[in-house]
Amino acid sequence: MKKTKQTTAAERDYLIEKEKFVSVSQYFGEDTFNRKAMKERLPEDAFQKLMNAINEEKKLDAKTADIIAEAIKNWALEKGATHFAHWFQPMTGITAEKHDAFIEPCGDDQVIEKFFGKQLVQGEPDASSFPSGGIRSTFEARGYTAWDMSSPAFIKRNGISTTLCIPTVFISYTGEALDKKTPLLRSIRALSNSAVNMLKLLGAKNIKKVHATLGPEQEYFLIDMDYFFKRQDLVLSGRTIVGAPPAKGQELEDQYFGSIKERISSYMHDVEEELFKLGVPAKTRHNEVAPSQFEIAPAFEEANLAVDHNQIVMDTMKAVAKKHNLACLLHEKPFAKINGSGKHLNWSLADNNGNNLLNPGSTPHENITFLVFLIAVVRAVYKNADILRASVATYANDHRLGANEAPPAIISVFLGEQLTEILANIEKGIVAKATNAEIIDLGVSSLPILSKDNSDRNRTSPFAFTGNKFEFRAVGSSQSISFPSAVLNTIVAESMDYLAEKIKAKNTKNLNQAVFEVLKSEIKEIKPVLFNGDNYTKEWEIEAGKRGLPNYKTTPIALKALITGKAFNLFEKYNVLSKVELQSRYIIYLEKYIKDMEIEVKCLNNICLSQIIPAAVAYQETLAKTIITTKEALGSAAIVSSEVEMLKKTIDLINSIYSINKEILDKVEAAAAIHDEAKKADTLCTKVKPKMDKLREYTDVLEVLVDDDMWPLPKFWEMLFIS
Ligand code: ADP
Ligand code: MG
Repeated sequence: MKKTKQTTAAERDYLIEKEKFVSVSQYFGEDTFNRKAMKERLPEDAFQKLMNAINEEKKLDAKTADIIAEAIKNWALEKGATHFAHWFQPMTGITAEKHDAFIEPCGDDQVIEKFFGKQLVQGEPDASSFPSGGIRSTFEARGYTAWDMSSPAFIKRNGISTTLCIPTVFISYTGEALDKKTPLLRSIRALSNSAVNMLKLLGAKNIKKVHATLGPEQEYFLIDMDYFFKRQDLVLSGRTIVGAPPAKGQELEDQYFGSIKERISSYMHDVEEELFKLGVPAKTRHNEVAPSQFEIAPAFEEANLAVDHNQIVMDTMKAVAKKHNLACLLHEKPFAKINGSGKHLNWSLADNNGNNLLNPGSTPHENITFLVFLIAVVRAVYKNADILRASVATYANDHRLGANEAPPAIISVFLGEQLTEILANIEKGIVAKATNAEIIDLGVSSLPILSKDNSDRNRTSPFAFTGNKFEFRAVGSSQSISFPSAVLNTIVAESMDYLAEKIKAKNTKNLNQAVFEVLKSEIKEIKPVLFNGDNYTKEWEIEAGKRGLPNYKTTPIALKALITGKAFNLFEKYNVLSKVELQSRYIIYLEKYIKDMEIEVKCLNNICLSQIIPAAVAYQETLAKTIITTKEALGSAAIVSSEVEMLKKTIDLINSIYSINKEILDKVEAAAAIHDEAKKADTLCTKVKPKMDKLREYTDVLEVLVDDDMWPLPKFWEMLFIS
């Protein structure tokens, strides 16, 4: 539906009747300065130069930049924009923008709308307050934004304000990355170089570029906004820090893929409409496992675009929710004991002809390419499981990973039975001396054209091959997918180079034989990372330990993988992150962990002292009075033993809550004196977190005991069963 504001059901019926609805394809991307708009509005020469700049990383001259700026400005003014903003992704994980009006004074107290090439190409926000992990001290706090031409400019509407947003990178005066996008772009380039070299080695011709492709499946919860604002834990930390599970949760499995309630589908419709206008290919929507949990998944796109689009998706979901009086929760574990939300990151590679390199083919040559790329990914994960784990390490995701609905902290790879068997045969040398004809016949049966439908499914694996792509399932729902994908791109680039060197070193004319010999020895080495069983079991944890796979359960431990010699060398070799940049990121992630936990501690304290304990004390008084008045009425023989028991229990719980809360505050205060960030995070994690969990046990028992009318917080059952 086009250009209508928030509509009620009645208005919508009216519009349907009036046939004012238009199909999505007619307005898809209308609020982006996409290739179609560029073609229409730029002179041929400027258009070509821009395409060269995008596709071949050629520099744009100042004159062309001015021409493009003028065209974008005119387009944006027609859309109602008054301002432009460099839109960037600082280390906070959310997006940032600083708006400037298009106006310039032009004499006679008048203004004129202007936009110059240099304003399009570069900006200098005084963005000194973003986390930099020590890269910038305030006296040299300048940060620059620079236009990322590979992601189209777009129109952002917020209430009645309309702004032209220009996707940019954010770097320091000295050129260090201060954002999430710069390393991603660098990793995309590294991956392309290594993959193109590998394809050339394998005999491919005319391949110039290889793209990482991404499809992030975004999970989220929706609750009524009125409940949201009654819970300071939800408002301030994004999750319920206290709260007992409802009598009915997800055990009946009646929510998953169930029919979508009207209020929710109206919401989804409005979200998608906004996304379509912004050129985000929102494709799939459904109910998820937990009550009030849902998923939206886009059609996959090139990595850079997919990352920007996922940020837009998250922003749009939150903004549209408000209009429906809903709150959209992106936290990884908003409700304890109920499934949490992840963001399955589907990842693959495609060459510049659009061929998916992880698609098993029907010819021997395609299959060799497929197997080499497959093994390169598996090897990358095996060698760098610790770095991948670190890329998803956040305070919030710690609540989810390793709980009973999410993959554990052990990063293993699922390939499915068929592929596992094929690899086992290669390892045994069955195809070591294969001729072309035999390569298809891998000794199992012929390697079929695996399609998504006939590959097995394993929902418990953190890193699963699903027919023609890998699915990294440990990513958190609120997280930017930028760093996890940058890590994937970089480690696969490294693995590909390694395999290419090995193949070349065989120095033989028979390429196929060289490839199979290399794969054979690699499979032997990397196979401990392969696991097709149930990743949620205790047995797997033990087995993984025997295989030597890392199992870093908490963020402070997991993050250390970013500051090892291996990590420094890897990211430096591929120009993705320098040692200084990587170190600064480690500090930023640690600081974030500490702040997240401290906010929760304060919030928990407020809830306990100003809400829960007063409610329990009031209930205690009610019980005490009841006991006294009953005895007065019926004499001392009156049986009030239940009330007495409840009273005692209430008092006990109040005392426990009060004293644990005090212990927590003391420990946090002691931790505040620790100057080493790593030690501080570790102390909070090992000394404070378990106490918070313990405290919750008490509050949750109390919640069920105290009179419902007196309980000051909306309960799970109220929030989770939206009508
Ligand atoms: P499921 O929930 O069964 O895993 P979905 O349809 O919800 O499947 O999500 C699959 C995701 O994988 C989609 O976002 C889709 O675009 C993405 N995807 C499919 N093929 C590729 C690919 N080649 N590269 C990256 N992502 C892909
Ligand atoms: Mg899905």
